[in-house]
Amino acid sequence: MISVEEALDRILGSIEPLGIEKVNILDSLGRVIGEDVCASRNIPPRNNSAMDGYAVRWEDTRNASRERPVVLDVVEDIPAGAIPGKRIGTGKAARIMTGAPVPEGGTAVVRVEDTKKDGRKVKIFVEAEEGQDIRWAGEDVREGEQVISRGDVIRPAEVGMLAALGRSYIYVYQRPMIAVIATGDELVDIDDTPSQWQIVSSNSYSITAQIIECGGIPLQLGIAKDTRDELIAKFNAALRANIIISSGGVSVGDYDLVKDIMQEVGNQMQFWQVAMRPGKPLAFGSMRGIPVFGLPGNPVSSMVSFEQFVRPSILKMMGCRRLFRRTVTATSMENITKKKGTTHFIRARVEYENGEFLVTTTGEQGSGILKSMVRANGLIVLPEKTGHVAKGEEVTVQLLDQSFEFTSRPEYLINT
Ligand code: AMP
Ligand code: MG
Repeated sequence: MISVEEALDRILGSIEPLGIEKVNILDSLGRVIGEDVCASRNIPPRNNSAMDGYAVRWEDTRNASRERPVVLDVVEDIPAGAIPGKRIGTGKAARIMTGAPVPEGGTAVVRVEDTKKDGRKVKIFVEAEEGQDIRWAGEDVREGEQVISRGDVIRPAEVGMLAALGRSYIYVYQRPMIAVIATGDELVDIDDTPSQWQIVSSNSYSITAQIIECGGIPLQLGIAKDTRDELIAKFNAALRANIIISSGGVSVGDYDLVKDIMQEVGNQMQFWQVAMRPGKPLAFGSMRGIPVFGLPGNPVSSMVSFEQFVRPSILKMMGCRRLFRRTVTATSMENITKKKGTTHFIRARVEYENGEFLVTTTGEQGSGILKSMVRANGLIVLPEKTGHVAKGEEVTVQLLDQSFEFTSRPEYLINT
């Protein structure tokens, strides 16, 4: 038996990031960028006005007030996008709009509310400070500055930055294709009518959803019966994927052929008992260089094993730097007893109340009880050495659910 940590180290040690591909920036959302992006230009390209008003020489506005305005000659009108044609000399001003380039000689902008137009002149009612309401060339981004780094995840802000730099295409890490094989004579597919002794292969769908959730491309290969021929055919069909996942057939039953077939079809398979619950049986290795996971068949075991081992592997292939879900420290609302010597992942619901996380288990923890997974938004992770958790003690909870990040009202309003 090996520990969760050792299994994780051995698995991730054998996973390499995929290559990169070129995509349109709107297809890059959520992807991991495969290049460092340096600014090819200054943003903004020129000093420009932050306000609608008048570009002036700041010294000319000294001592200006409502009662004793300074009067300046208006030499031109500069809308956004126009090129200024005249220098601002002493006693001069130019009408200027937000975003328009500040003309040469202009050292401040006085907002229109602090002025009054008077024919070809303007009355200035306030003293301007040097540089007031001017946005300087390159104040957002300087030419040559690195703004996005390889390994960053592209969010809407990065899309905006790339667009500002005129980058319509960028290089991102490829998304891995993940083959999913369900195994078991008792399984039917979702639209087939199960006989009394059959069940729908829900794992095919939960695993596929987990793949989609973390950014992989699923390749559903359906169900293999527990026969050598069907298993060999499915594993061969899976060889075009970047990762192969099977579910079921890895424990010690008479029809658990997956381990043997994996060894026959490929090579370098390792069959492990991982000291964890759920998810003790796990086969891992590679077939012709493709990583293969033989996940256990029980619906919760397969999901928990995917969470701990497959998800970080997919993220690593996609070039991500951060491979693991966040954990929080929460107060257990109940007593929990477990076996020492195994890591337990206990389905639970965590809430944030009055500045602390509180966690409650979601009921029956059998590895076939998918309902307690449905109710859960996290997994309490109890390490090997723990035997008992008393109500009120602190535990570590792995957050499974992005919806946990959302609230029904802004918390900054609730808390103030
Ligand atoms: P196995 O590891 O093949 O012995 O399967 C363990 C348990 O998980 C059995 O009760 C199976 O019926 C169930 N199981 C196996 N594969 C699936 C699947 N694809 N969907 C739902 N349940 C499954
Ligand atoms: Mg089976």
